[in-house]
Amino acid sequence: MHSNGQTNWIEVDLGEIRNNVRVLRSIAGAQVMAVVKANAYGHGLVEASQAAVEGGAGWLGVARIDEALALCRAGIQARMIVLGYTEPERAAEAAAEGVRLAVYDQGVVEAYSRVAREAGKTLLVHAKYDTGMGRLGHDPQDAVEFTRWMGDLPGLKVEGAFTHFAEADEPQKPTTLRQLECFENVLKALNAAGLRPEFIHAANSAGTLLFPQARYDVVRPGIAVYGLQPAPGVMLPPEIRPALSWKARLASVKMIPPGHGVSYNFHYFTTHEERIGVITVGYADGFRRVQGNHVLVRGVRVPVVGAVCMDQCLVQLDAVPDAQIGDEVVLIGQQGDLRISAEEIARSWGTIVYEVVCGLGARVQRVYR
Ligand SMILES: *Cc1c(COP(=O)(O)O)cnc(C)c1O
Repeated sequence: MHSNGQTNWIEVDLGEIRNNVRVLRSIAGAQVMAVVKANAYGHGLVEASQAAVEGGAGWLGVARIDEALALCRAGIQARMIVLGYTEPERAAEAAAEGVRLAVYDQGVVEAYSRVAREAGKTLLVHAKYDTGMGRLGHDPQDAVEFTRWMGDLPGLKVEGAFTHFAEADEPQKPTTLRQLECFENVLKALNAAGLRPEFIHAANSAGTLLFPQARYDVVRPGIAVYGLQPAPGVMLPPEIRPALSWKARLASVKMIPPGHGVSYNFHYFTTHEERIGVITVGYADGFRRVQGNHVLVRGVRVPVVGAVCMDQCLVQLDAVPDAQIGDEVVLIGQQGDLRISAEEIARSWGTIVYEVVCGLGARVQRVYR
């Protein structure tokens, strides 16, 4: 793969995204909504979405309407839904493009209906129920009334009903089963009233993998589409593989005398004459300014030393005597026999893998395979 002359770039293997969606679809035995919010978890919105659709995703889930409109403009053919809040004034655009909106609040739904009707359009909506997460969602007890009321509003069609799990990645806890029971009651009531919408969905990646009864008509995996684990305890099937690598270059190699401070504020001092390299990645690219980072150079795992700067940082290269300016440096991915996973970085940063990939800088060029 060619870096396009970049000094800091992300390689995305679109074949892996296609494959991961295919695997998830066959495991779930349901339609797949690939969740592509936040620039497809850092992987590149349009390219990753296109790959997901080619892998069999019939739906794309986003967080903001502008993400959906960008996909429409790019000519991506799939059903799209904004899973988060949308301002009422955008309802006409959504309706015009066939972008579905999540609904849970009567006042907002009324405003959507008014805007869509005035535009002479019909807006497709999916009713979201809060079955326990305590975030967005209508009262599950009121599902029948809410659905019936929406069904009578002009400019609106209720196409789906859904919920979201708070702890599907911790299956030993009772929360997900409780949420499922609550959601089942919603569906029972809707069925009994003849109001079951066409598409029922609940499961994020962990829910899809760990709770077969949560798969319904559509599953909504995000992180697993990119081949990443929802949480350290949640094992992915072996056929699901990470799509993203992150690379930089060695910009300098030199010997620094003993007792010499290194990088801003001298968090590191050489203890002997040390081979110190500079690599072309910094916190502005999403590489956190913390101690304990490692990278791969010539197939060797080397420590980052001193403070991470905005656009560069320093590495201790005593173990790589033949290191040269221009060498490829791997931040995430494989080099020789070694690999650094995004999950490992998440652990070392004390965060979740989602934050690692979503935090990759906008200025980092994405290169596609
Ligand atoms: C982000 C999101 C998902 C995907 O979650 P993953 O854990 O990445 O699989 C699914 N549904 C909703 C409503 C979301 O906001």
